[in-house]
Formats: sequence, structure tokens, C-alpha cells
Amino acid sequence: MDLGLKGKCALVTAASRGLGRASALALAAEGAKVAVAGRDAKVLDELVQELRAVGASDAMAVRMDLARHETLRPSVDAVAEKFGGLDIFLGNTGGPASGSFLSVSREAWETAIHEILLPLVDLSRAVLPHMQAAGGGRIMFVTTVGVKMVQPNMVLSDSLRLAIVGLAKSLSIEFAHENIMVNCLCPGPFATDRMEDLIVASMERDGLSRSDAEAVWLDEVPARKFGDPGDFGAIVATLASSRGGFITGTAIALDGGKSRAY
Ligand code: NAD
Repeated sequence: MDLGLKGKCALVTAASRGLGRASALALAAEGAKVAVAGRDAKVLDELVQELRAVGASDAMAVRMDLARHETLRPSVDAVAEKFGGLDIFLGNTGGPASGSFLSVSREAWETAIHEILLPLVDLSRAVLPHMQAAGGGRIMFVTTVGVKMVQPNMVLSDSLRLAIVGLAKSLSIEFAHENIMVNCLCPGPFATDRMEDLIVASMERDGLSRSDAEAVWLDEVPARKFGDPGDFGAIVATLASSRGGFITGTAIALDGGKSRAY
């Protein structure tokens, strides 16, 4: 199936590894122009070479720390200028610290709000005018399956991600008539560095063996396996395409059956 993404202009944030990286590669493989944003210039430069190698029409690296809000709009404008527009925005971020409610400090809440919630607000404000000018676009936010099924020790992530779902749903009703579709992707456990960090955190916090710590994440997953980031990227590419033109305001679980939510 040709997704019709050749030459479409995409920005992926927090793209240097994990789900962001896999999504950038999937968009590139469909022939899109892909800008990858993140903090590590060397990693991003190498990724740009990979994006070109798999078929990107064009590719660029954008130095971006999501916590530096004043830099976000200029970065978006620079991508749109170089690519000649902006059609697709995958709003990915790092994940916040795990832990129970009383173990999470107020400062950690403030940091998470600054690094996870507010950047997606600022970036959306910056990308929307470009999509309006282009006559359409796709915005996707990476959240968590925790928006459908609250998870132990994930109070920061699950709380803030529900705000992001609210943001996406609000944008969906404001912009669908302009062919701008806005959705959330809600990953369950995927095999990324973030998942590795979470497994190690449960081993240290709860004194678990590695297999017991993995079981904490897999026991509730009927598929009994960690997700493949490449499969996540394929769904991003499909939603980003014209095939995603009648899907908006949804929060789509990619979770091996974990949430069983409607
Ligand atoms: P990851 O930790 O492997 O990658 C996160 C990326 O975010 C890294 O490239 C990191 O450098 C970048 N990043 C962090 N803070 C940043 C900042 N201030 N500015 C710019 N870049 C920054 O994570 P992942 O597993 O790919 O997950 C991506 C998102 O999906 C996270 O928000 C995570 O909470 C969420 N998620 C992941 C899983 C999973 O199983 N992997 C499950 C549920 C939710």
C-alpha cells in the first residue's frame, strides 16, 4: 500500500532513540522529508544519514532541548523553511521519573510539566499555522497505555499524559475541518532504552530479579512480549498518511492487549 508520504514534511521530537527514532525511520522509508529533533548532535547526525539511506526525500537534524521553550517555535519555523512546509508532527518526549506518589517530589512534577506537557503545547502552537497554510496536517502525541489503565509507580507519566490526551481531543475538534487530524498513541511496554531503565528501576526499588522485573511489565500483556519499535513506527506512518484522514481525537492503544479498554 502506497501511503502517499513521498515528499511530505515531518518533524519528530525526542528522536534520537526508541519510539521517536523508529517513527522517524518509518516516515523516511515512505519517502517523507524528516527532521529529527533532540539534544545529542552526533547521534542526530548519524540518524540523518540512516534516514537518507532508507529513502527519505530529505532529512535534517535539529538541536532541541524540549525544556528550552523559547527555542521551540524558531526550530519549527526553520524546519518548515528548509523543507518548504510542515505536514506531520510527531510530538514525542522523554518519559518522567517512575515512583509512587509520596516518593515523587514537587520539583519532579514541575520538571515533568516543563519537559513533557508544555513543550507539546508550544510545539503545537508553532506547527499549526504551517499546517493551516498547507491545507492540512497530522499531529500525533506519544503518551502511554497508562491513560487507559493507570499503572503502579507511574503517577507522573499517567497524570500528565491524560492532560495531553485532553489537549489532543481539544485540538481535534478545533482543526478537523481544516484537515488537521490530532491523535494520541498510547504505547504499552516496547523494547526501548526507556523500558530498560524502568526494568532496572523496579529491580533496584523492589529488590526483584531481572526476570521478575520483566514479568511486572509483561504479566498483564496477553501478547506476552515487548513491542517492536518498528511496528510502532509503521502505525505512525499510516496515521500520518492520507489513510489517517478520518481518524482524529482518538487515543490509540498499541499495547499487546494490556489495557483492554474501550
Ligand atoms: P527513550 O527513553 O528510549 O527515548 C526518549 C527520548 O527522549 C530520548 O531520545 C531522549 O534523549 C529524549 N529526551 C528526553 N528528554 C528530552 C529533552 N528535554 N529534550 C529533548 N529530548 C529529550 O523512550 P521511549 O521508550 O522511546 O519512549 C518514548 C515516549 O513513550 C516516552 O515519553 C515514554 O514515556 C513513552 N512510553 C514508552 C513506553 C515504552 O515501553 N517504551 C511505554 C509507555 C510510554
